[in-house]
Amino acid sequence: MRQSTFLAPTLREAPAEAEAISHKLMLRAGFIRQLAAGVYTYLPMGWRVLRKVETIVREEMDRTGAQELLMPAMQPAELWQESGRYQVYGPELIRFHDRHEREFALGPTHEEVITTLMRNEVRSYRKLPMNLYQIQTKFRDERRPRFGLLRGREFLMKDAYSFDSDWEGLDKTYWSMYDAYSRIFTRTGLNFRPVEADAGAIGGEGGTHEFMALADIGEDTIAVCTSCDYAANLEKAEAAPGKTEYREVAAGEHEKFHTPNLRTIDQLTESFGVKPQDLIKTLIYVADGQPVAVVLRGDHEANEVKVKNYLDATDLELADPETTAKVTGAPIGFAGPVGLSGIQVLVDREVGVMSSGIAGANEKDYHLRNVKPGVDFPIEFSGDFRNVIEGDHCPRCEGTLKFYRGIEVGHVFKLGTKYSEKLGAAVLDANGQEQAMIMGCYGIGVSRVLSAIVEQSHDENGIIWPVSIAPFHVHLIPVSVKDETQMKLTEDLYDRLRGIGVEVLLDDRDERPGVKFKDADLIGIPIRVTIGKQAGEGRVEFKLRSEQEMFDLTGEEAIERILQLIQEQRVSK
Ligand code: ATP
Ligand code: MG
Repeated sequence: MRQSTFLAPTLREAPAEAEAISHKLMLRAGFIRQLAAGVYTYLPMGWRVLRKVETIVREEMDRTGAQELLMPAMQPAELWQESGRYQVYGPELIRFHDRHEREFALGPTHEEVITTLMRNEVRSYRKLPMNLYQIQTKFRDERRPRFGLLRGREFLMKDAYSFDSDWEGLDKTYWSMYDAYSRIFTRTGLNFRPVEADAGAIGGEGGTHEFMALADIGEDTIAVCTSCDYAANLEKAEAAPGKTEYREVAAGEHEKFHTPNLRTIDQLTESFGVKPQDLIKTLIYVADGQPVAVVLRGDHEANEVKVKNYLDATDLELADPETTAKVTGAPIGFAGPVGLSGIQVLVDREVGVMSSGIAGANEKDYHLRNVKPGVDFPIEFSGDFRNVIEGDHCPRCEGTLKFYRGIEVGHVFKLGTKYSEKLGAAVLDANGQEQAMIMGCYGIGVSRVLSAIVEQSHDENGIIWPVSIAPFHVHLIPVSVKDETQMKLTEDLYDRLRGIGVEVLLDDRDERPGVKFKDADLIGIPIRVTIGKQAGEGRVEFKLRSEQEMFDLTGEEAIERILQLIQEQRVSK
């Protein structure tokens, strides 16, 4: 490709609205342009990278035996009503009417469409297992589209849906997808971790993993063990339970003390010189309309997903001041477990092992000290209701947990029969009995992967693409397009490289070398070959984008080195 006529407009400055480094660089390097918030054009350079990621995804999906198809983005609302998601999906679902006033939605995901297809087309268990995938544009009217391709409203996703006739089959399919995802992300050059995630009511243990690209801009916090391979997102992560502290029950009664206007953990620790972990905090929530209390150690945060799962609730939110006052008899900030009656009190297991602590007195401006869990208040409903914190003990080994930020690039999920039951997708089993198909779903944010790679792989001058997904393998730069000797060698190398399948971008623009090098660094093609003063001797300057060193090589040597680099990438990954 000749750069003089290639649509790859580079910018000196990134538009002010771009915050994330990947967003800035992809705009500046001419990979994408925004049309509306969260809606982008992939320019030829961006499209080339996207196609390479797609190719890797396709190769690995096909290798598992999955079959590619393409479903419509336009989906009748009735399907969503049938699955029960039309109401609950909320404003992220883009809805519209056709000219006959029939309601439609733009697909944010395709469980409804694929399950209906399978209901109509597959009747016997003998056809299963079957795994179907597509690479397609998805629509989600995200509340906060941002960071360029990281959170778009229109984005490219690979989504696969598997159908098995028994749970062991699903398990096998699930882990083969897990392995395929590991290969895909390794081949794209990402630094990633698969982490356990919360599967809610369905899925069960090990029922869902997220693939997280490690990057500070990531919106997810993941807890990773420092010595074993345990890793989970914050919603799901558990710590090894704490050991019971020595508890002297005869150590005296709890006593009330005056804490005027001291409502928060910080205010209490400051005023009384105690540590947050000496406090017992009580949060009042409303779960599906019912008030409940969650009792935690002062330095711990409630994990609402865990609380919701424990209660099997669909809706959970912190109680407003009126509800809190009604339940505890005191304003927010003074709730405590002692004497709290009439509501379910969930006690985090780390509170259960405290010998004593300071808790709210359920009375304005008062707290209680020397409150002994299990003595001064009952521990009837105990469990893990908190977020882990860094330094917590790993639940699997002797190691400790460390936090990282992650970008969710992929997600594998055991769906079970949630959709097949609702939409009536069943097969006849070996005994002629009708049985709901057992499903899994598997997504990859194909466009998000581009941004994740740039987040991980760049320097102050621009992007550094891994060879496997780079828009071109080689950036060929003649220092002066007016120099005939240089141009002759350049054209010769250009033809020869292309002839052997190497993808070359030839900077044939009549620009100063400084401008060309700056653009080359910004665009980030992994191999740069410069043709300058030594062209007469058939020599070129060879440089990798990721390294500073330059090599003075003959054209022949350069070709050899290029082939080797491309080859290595294919073989090792
Ligand atoms: P998130 O938590 O980031 O909103 P999600 O859990 O809603 O994502 P899934 O429904 O699991 O996403 O979709 C499968 C994959 O699609 C995700 O793992 C992610 O890589 C990608 N994806 C989801 N939403 C977006 C988006 N708005 N823009 C780009 N990629 C996205
Ligand atoms: Mg997800």
